[in-house]
Amino acid sequence: MRFVPRPRPEGIGPRRIATSFESATGKRTIHELDARGQRVLLRVDFNVPLSDGKVVDDSRIRASIPTIKALLEDGASIVLASHLGRPDGKVVDGLRLRPAAERLAHHLKMMVPTTGDALGVGTDDAVNRLRPGELLLLENVRFHVGEEKNDPAFAARLASYGDVFVNDAFGTAHRAHASTVGVAGLLPSYVGLLMESEVEALSNLLDKPARPFAAIVGGGKVSGKVAVLEALIKKVDLLVLGGGVANTFLVASGRSVGKSLYESKMVEHARRILKLAAERGVKVLLPVDGVVAKEVTRGTEFKVVSTEKLPASWHMVDLGPDSINAVRDALGPVKTILWNGPLGVFEIPAFGTATRELAKLAAEKAEAGATVVVGGGDSIAALQQLNLAGKMTHLSTGGGASLEFLEGRELPGLAVIPTSGSPYETLPIIWHASAVEKKAKAPAKKSS
Ligand code: ADP
Ligand code: MG
Repeated sequence: MRFVPRPRPEGIGPRRIATSFESATGKRTIHELDARGQRVLLRVDFNVPLSDGKVVDDSRIRASIPTIKALLEDGASIVLASHLGRPDGKVVDGLRLRPAAERLAHHLKMMVPTTGDALGVGTDDAVNRLRPGELLLLENVRFHVGEEKNDPAFAARLASYGDVFVNDAFGTAHRAHASTVGVAGLLPSYVGLLMESEVEALSNLLDKPARPFAAIVGGGKVSGKVAVLEALIKKVDLLVLGGGVANTFLVASGRSVGKSLYESKMVEHARRILKLAAERGVKVLLPVDGVVAKEVTRGTEFKVVSTEKLPASWHMVDLGPDSINAVRDALGPVKTILWNGPLGVFEIPAFGTATRELAKLAAEKAEAGATVVVGGGDSIAALQQLNLAGKMTHLSTGGGASLEFLEGRELPGLAVIPTSGSPYETLPIIWHASAVEKKAKAPAKKSS
């Protein structure tokens, strides 16, 4: 069964002749869409952290506003779709999208109704009543099993809500789901402004960074970051390691880290990355001293020690002052910085010194003209606590998608959108989810 899109409304066509529209994505973007009178199915990433039914960090919601405003100002009506968390195909009351709609309503200063379900008669009615300039938010698409399976029937139901599809959910672009890839095969599809700016910022880093280029990688675990570390080693001049990630690298270089968080299964990977760095002449900065604590809790005893003799029964929870100074010196000449992952357990203020110092340093570098890109929910949260988020060149909202992009992998949600300049009627070939996932997950071909 193939869903047949509604014919294009009278008088609607490409607004700007799009044959050579410059976009970092190379894809058809909303600059090429005349949205007047169109109903736009807009995939956003409202997968935001919640606590007690309130949105703790609304960065992703705010990041979606430029596209929403552009489409509303153009005279479109918008049906917003997003997932939240991992309800695994069931209705989970704690993962309803109403709190996200409330944040969006607050920023847009207009009503953002939510539907009780992504599908159903009530939802069909609400969608059909939308007038130009109005919007609504569908309930969490992951309440339906068809979403993550990219089920064609579920995708067709979602596609029936729009005349066109716009994907602005950069944070979900690495997933070939019904609301990202399935619908794009059924409606004329475009990339939104957030997706465009994310791809632009990250591809500039990979393709033409001003040098020296430094990557700063912290956070808890190396697993999940191995592939990106390997990709970055081929791009950067300097790699600064902190957090639990650095602990695993300290073990890989022969130190013992006591009770500190580290991953024994990742030690071999860390060794390989260190070897690769040495071969390529990339400088790797490992902590020379650290803050060690009796327990990883507030109010516990802590002290600064050299990483050459970390005590067996303590946890390393932050970089020490000598390491912070070394980072500052090493970043002096650097013109491009990519930062992912806090340098210590910054949630406990006593162990957040290095993260706070780096945040201030990154802000100074950005003010002095360096390109500073920060990715990762916790790293951005640390910047926000210090009111420094606005100073960065770019904050990547992507999480896993940003990492996969930096690894050089194709993002299915982006890949499926027709290339810039394609006529309105162009639909991509409908890719089956498993084929897309296979393609995205396939290891890069080794040259023989
Ligand atoms: P981001 O969200 O910025 O990508 P991660 O999720 O990778 O960052 O890592 C953040 C987590 O890493 C924080 O919860 C922080 O407490 C933890 N972390 C940082 N340093 C350490 C450390 N030395 N030991 C244990 N956990 C750490
Ligand atoms: Mg995190």
